[in-house]
Amino acid sequence: MIKIRNIHKSYITGQNSLHVLKGIDLDVHPGEMISVMGASGSGKSTLLNILGILDNYDQGEYLLDGLKISKLSERKAAQLRNKKLGFVFQSFNLISFKNAMENVAMPLYYQNIKRKKRNLMALDYLDRMGIKEWAHHLPNELSGGQKQRVAIARALITNPKVILADEPTGALDSVTSLEVMDHLHEINKSGITMIIVTHEHDIAARTRKTIRITDGLITDIVNN
Ligand code: ADP
Ligand code: MG
Repeated sequence: MIKIRNIHKSYITGQNSLHVLKGIDLDVHPGEMISVMGASGSGKSTLLNILGILDNYDQGEYLLDGLKISKLSERKAAQLRNKKLGFVFQSFNLISFKNAMENVAMPLYYQNIKRKKRNLMALDYLDRMGIKEWAHHLPNELSGGQKQRVAIARALITNPKVILADEPTGALDSVTSLEVMDHLHEINKSGITMIIVTHEHDIAARTRKTIRITDGLITDIVNN
């Protein structure tokens, strides 16, 4: 599903260049659920952003579902993200002035699906996440766990091939974290490939394989 070879990425700020990814190779097979661990600043989010076509890489090769991903226009990148990928972030990234249903429906707006159908589909996905009764509430009326379930429903609504989650439990208490992991497990069982960045060992241990990044390189792969 995902194949990357010798990926390098530097950030240039002013006169300074920071070499963040220093030659990453990774294969993620269809239906796999893997975690990525590493110290703060080791390059986890940079890697996830490249996999999510949210950022470019400088060198190497990236194949997503058989498609070569390199130097795409923003329009093409957005199309591919909408079609193949779902995102879950630590900070939920919900739109504050839209209710839960409208947040979940948002990706379908970009597929030109009519509002009524979008909202019906969103309600169905909220139902699957066990929070249909919160459909008409704004994000600031929801708990952290509820917000993340809204975000997961939003990630699922386009039926993506891959879900990329950057510290999805990072802002949640431990009980809620495990509930969110249960949802991610269920989703993975339905066949969606999943990559979860985390710095929590108990979260990583609940994925099949853990990749450790140290200073921009994969230094360990553990089967859990
Ligand atoms: P992690 O997610 O593992 O904590 P990141 O991938 O976010 O690490 O960051 C890796 C390094 O790159 C850090 O030193 C960070 O400060 C730097 N960095 C991340 N994003 C940018 C950016 N947009 N511009 C400049 N430096 C960045
Ligand atoms: Mg990060």
